[in-house]
Amino acid sequence: MISMEKPIVEIDGDEMARVMWAWVKEKLIIPYVDLKVEYYDLHIKNRDETNDEVTIKAAEAIKRLKVGVKCATITPNAERIKEYNLKKEWKSPNATIRNILDGTIFRAPIILSNIIPAVRFWRKPIVVARHAFGDIYDGIGLRFEGPAEGEVTIKQENGKEIKAKFPMFRSSGVIQAIYNLDASIENFARASFRYALENKLDLWFAAKDTISKVYDAKFKEIFSKIYENEFKDKFHNAGLNYNYFLIDDAIARVVRSEGGFVWACKNFDGDVFSDFVATAYVGSLALMTSVLFSPEGHFLSEAAHGTVQKHYYKYLKGEKTSTNPTAIIFAWSSALKRSGEITGNMELFNFACKLEEAVKVTIEMDRIMTADIANVSEPPINKIVSTEEFIEAIRRNLNKLLKIHP
Ligand code: NAP
Ligand code: MG
Repeated sequence: MISMEKPIVEIDGDEMARVMWAWVKEKLIIPYVDLKVEYYDLHIKNRDETNDEVTIKAAEAIKRLKVGVKCATITPNAERIKEYNLKKEWKSPNATIRNILDGTIFRAPIILSNIIPAVRFWRKPIVVARHAFGDIYDGIGLRFEGPAEGEVTIKQENGKEIKAKFPMFRSSGVIQAIYNLDASIENFARASFRYALENKLDLWFAAKDTISKVYDAKFKEIFSKIYENEFKDKFHNAGLNYNYFLIDDAIARVVRSEGGFVWACKNFDGDVFSDFVATAYVGSLALMTSVLFSPEGHFLSEAAHGTVQKHYYKYLKGEKTSTNPTAIIFAWSSALKRSGEITGNMELFNFACKLEEAVKVTIEMDRIMTADIANVSEPPINKIVSTEEFIEAIRRNLNKLLKIHP
């Protein structure tokens, strides 16, 4: 049994992701690790009952304990309010946590030799770094009846007022105001440069400064300043490059590239393009990991996919599903690795590496896999397994790697 000195933050979630979460813990972690966690239950009903306080407490716990692992959670909408009889449309827990930690999200594909990317040039990783603060995720939206006039006013604490007017609105419409903060953009840039350097990857940043001449131009300027002042020499010595591209140009370059870079994206671009890279690279969101790094070095890992709602309804009817727990397993392994690194617990770190290896052996060598990746595997496989059978196959390989004979 591997010991743990310091607890990590465990954030539980909803639906099929929650079901798999429990299975992964029971079969692949608890038998091997004397797991220490501070547990926060973000099940939609518990968020509702605590008026979402539990989400804020979970984020604060990450600030205290430095390492967390999170299960996918429902972001309520009108349908969910009915389904779960909720008091209100609570904010996305991920948005709440990101706003408290002010981090950058890095999404990296789990590359497997028999899962061939849809883009045939891709051979090296493409990591999407998503700025996890501000923009439309913390914006204000208003509907108005026209004709109307609109203006934006900023009242600075120093007494100065800044105003800008829109052209006259001739009919009814909608308006949206978004913001970001220099300090957060600076942290985003630093986190991206640091991650690229540590993982020996080039860094690309892309935005639309030709059209967004104040907003996006500010991002571009900050990236350039931080590169020149803090990272240029380090990148040069490591043989790495930093490039700025217009976002539309970047898409074409990403598709034509062989990979091997971190693609830093503004919040919305990162939301969209991380799903694009996941699907085009590994065919399934279930092979995409997601890690949030805060400027203070706080760390939160999760699977990139959601709660896998449709599979959950089948599960509730008693049907076996072939939902893929790989990204959930990697969320746990990366949190345990991080905890091992911070506390100098190499046994824990090595166990987490073995757990990842066991997943890879199961898919690459045994060619045992769930339906989502079986469909994109090369050569094709004949046997698709259920989630439980897949976890059991991983457990057998893990025991072999750890030289445990059941
Ligand atoms: P989703 O849960 O990611 O699932 C979308 C589809 O992708 C599934 O129906 C399934 O396709 C496939 N898929 C995703 N993960 C899979 C896995 N592990 N194994 C096999 N197939 C997988 O997204 P969603 O259905 O749009 O969202 C459901 C709920 O999740 C929503 O309430 C949303 O708010 C929430 N969500 C949470 C997070 C988060 O907490 N980080 C992120 C995204 C969404 P097939 O049905 O074709 O098999
Ligand atoms: Mg997305």
